[in-house]
Amino acid sequence: MDTFRASEISITGTLIWYYYICHRQVWLMSRQIAPEQDNPNIVLGRYIQEHSYLREKKEVSVGSSKMDIIRVLEEGLVIGEVKKSSRYQKSARMQLAFYLKELKNRGLKATGELRFPQEKKKQQIVLAKQTEEELDRTCQHIKIIIREEKPPPPQKKQLCKNCAYAEFCWA
Ligand code: SF4
Repeated sequence: MDTFRASEISITGTLIWYYYICHRQVWLMSRQIAPEQDNPNIVLGRYIQEHSYLREKKEVSVGSSKMDIIRVLEEGLVIGEVKKSSRYQKSARMQLAFYLKELKNRGLKATGELRFPQEKKKQQIVLAKQTEEELDRTCQHIKIIIREEKPPPPQKKQLCKNCAYAEFCWA
């Protein structure tokens, strides 16, 4: 018997990140079908996340999400998200915006800083009304995806060749 209950899944920043990359990944993550942990991209991404900006980071949990607070200013918090590359900027921006919204819903003012240490780039993120509305629509759509009994079919895209689920999708 399938004991999975979509209603019990909390939407996290990680699901938002996957949503803008591949809807199939959203479904797989929701079923806790973990990607190959020794995939070189996952290993490198984890290394960069764990070893960048160590002096500044302070990880906190808000709702079901974990985020790094990098500065506390009079005008509010600054939270950061470190990514391996700026290739999936939209995903990264929406993930960070989701964290800003989580904080806003709890009455906390915050801005975000996206960091790409390998490219020596930073990008400031402010939560705009339009982005909040888009996040609401995205969360609704994520719920629809994870309620399905089967994952959306795989769709060949450039990312597939580096994706940790590649074997699962294409073997
Ligand atoms: S291999 Fe391609 S289709 Fe499969 S989860 Fe990864 S990105 Fe999506």
